[in-house]
Amino acid sequence: MSITASGWSNKTGTVDRSCNCGSWKQHWIKYAAKPWPANCSVKGCSNSPTLGAHVQNPNVDGERIVPICDSCNGLSGTFDLKGEITLPSANKSKTCG
Ligand SMILES: [Zn+2]
Ligand SMILES: [Zn+2]
Repeated sequence: MSITASGWSNKTGTVDRSCNCGSWKQHWIKYAAKPWPANCSVKGCSNSPTLGAHVQNPNVDGERIVPICDSCNGLSGTFDLKGEITLPSANKSKTCG
């Protein structure tokens, strides 16, 4: 999956969303098929990621889930992600729905 790492933003108003995986963290682990990372996905951030956040990018089709820390989950505006991060779709009809 080669997806741009720049120009992402948090999708707001998603706190009430849930999926069949139990949590968006579990959703990421399942569909990224990787262990939960030690560090937040936002470039330059080395905090531990605590949740799977909904993010969006004007150049990418659909919303994605990324492991992110509480602090970065509150970012407004755009931010860059670390280049190696995997971004499973948040679209339940394509994943766990
Ligand atoms: Zn899910
Ligand atoms: Zn962070």
